[in-house]
Amino acid sequence: MSADFIAWSHSRRKTWMECPKQFYHANVAPKGHPDRVEFIQTAAMIAGNLVDDALTQRIAKGKPLPPQFAPYEPMAAAVIAAPGAKYTQLKVTLDQSFKPCGYFDPQAWCRAVYDCAIINGSHAFIFDWKNGQIWADNDQLMLFAATAFHQFPELEVVETSYVWLRHSLTSDETYKRKELPELWAVLLPEVEQLQVAYRTGHWPAAPKRGAKSCKQCGANQAGKCDKAQGPYGG
Ligand code: SF4
Repeated sequence: MSADFIAWSHSRRKTWMECPKQFYHANVAPKGHPDRVEFIQTAAMIAGNLVDDALTQRIAKGKPLPPQFAPYEPMAAAVIAAPGAKYTQLKVTLDQSFKPCGYFDPQAWCRAVYDCAIINGSHAFIFDWKNGQIWADNDQLMLFAATAFHQFPELEVVETSYVWLRHSLTSDETYKRKELPELWAVLLPEVEQLQVAYRTGHWPAAPKRGAKSCKQCGANQAGKCDKAQGPYGG
């Protein structure tokens, strides 16, 4: 029996906010159904995965970085040398009562993946490697912190960073445990709307950024949307 909720992540929440119909085609229509649009990795995503994998191998297994990623060695070495337990590609999953559970458990409700985390007593650092252009959106950092406070009850402070690899810059936010209710208060309204849509099957075409949303939409690319406000151009 299917659940009365749909699991969500930062990227699913973002897609929902971009356009409900886009979300439906990518995440709700069953595999094999004519409405289904399978996720296609762009060249930029593939390049991002390469560097993610290289940093994971370096930090988790000590494997040297390939020459093209050598500029990131000082950063990787600093992570390795930092005190605390190191995690790479750590999957953190919560059920609807914010209890940690397995990533693929039927009760899995909220999922986050930390590219790299250092847990040191009551203090954590969580990093997300970014291989593209810099943008301002703290939602993913807030989700990292919120999920970490549940997964690691000993944490009092979570420092989070987008690491803009090509720019040698970071965007940092620090969160304290007492802010946890506020973090969820920011993140959950859209998730609640998504769950209502899931229960009612209401997926209107409502591109948040108009033609800009449609330009990067897989449903548009696949010719499955007759409400597109402009051509696909991703
Ligand atoms: S093409 Fe535009 S309106 Fe249609 S699903 Fe995609 S984002 Fe929504």
